[in-house]
Amino acid sequence: MNKREMLNLLNEKICHCSKCPELVANRTQTVLDSGNPESRILFIGEAPGQNEDEQGEVFVGKAGQLLTNVIASLGLDRKNDTYIINPIKCRPPDNRKPSKIELENCAPFFKLQIKIANPKFIVCMGAVAAKALLDMEESVGMMRGRWFKYEDGIVNADVLVTYHPSYLLRNPNAKKDVAADMQLLMDSMALPVVRLPSVLAP
Ligand code: URA
Repeated sequence: MNKREMLNLLNEKICHCSKCPELVANRTQTVLDSGNPESRILFIGEAPGQNEDEQGEVFVGKAGQLLTNVIASLGLDRKNDTYIINPIKCRPPDNRKPSKIELENCAPFFKLQIKIANPKFIVCMGAVAAKALLDMEESVGMMRGRWFKYEDGIVNADVLVTYHPSYLLRNPNAKKDVAADMQLLMDSMALPVVRLPSVLAP
């Protein structure tokens, strides 16, 4: 069975999950992922928003467009060269942050999804992703610019923490920090950066 087939089986369980009553009552559908689980890089966001809830794919709204451009600026194709997930599979109403209990309820799905994909590099976009993966509560500003490790069974991945694309839309000055973080990622993957400065210009 390949990774996509395993993820489809996992998704069967996810879409029948009813652990978080408020999320279940408000969701159009559960939202699993985007991109290619066979790729070496995993990007982790926060939670599905309205567009994702409607379309059933992660990062399809405005923040998703920026993420797509950042990935393209690295010379990578979002669909083929990256895998993208959230720590939580249902949209929190009014785009509030997922609660601690909601993240805990979804953690077994999130962790299994990472085990199936078994990426070599993980980029946590924002504090919610960093907390869900690394159980770290520091600010993104404190965590960014250096490598962490994530190990779970066969998974042994190098992890970067950087700003979430939605934060970049509100704070364009942080784009230079994300550009530096992406350069770090590309250096470690031994890939040249293609058009980074223009896309991430403040
Ligand atoms: N923001 C996220 O963190 N995830 C999405 O899927 C969309 C927006």
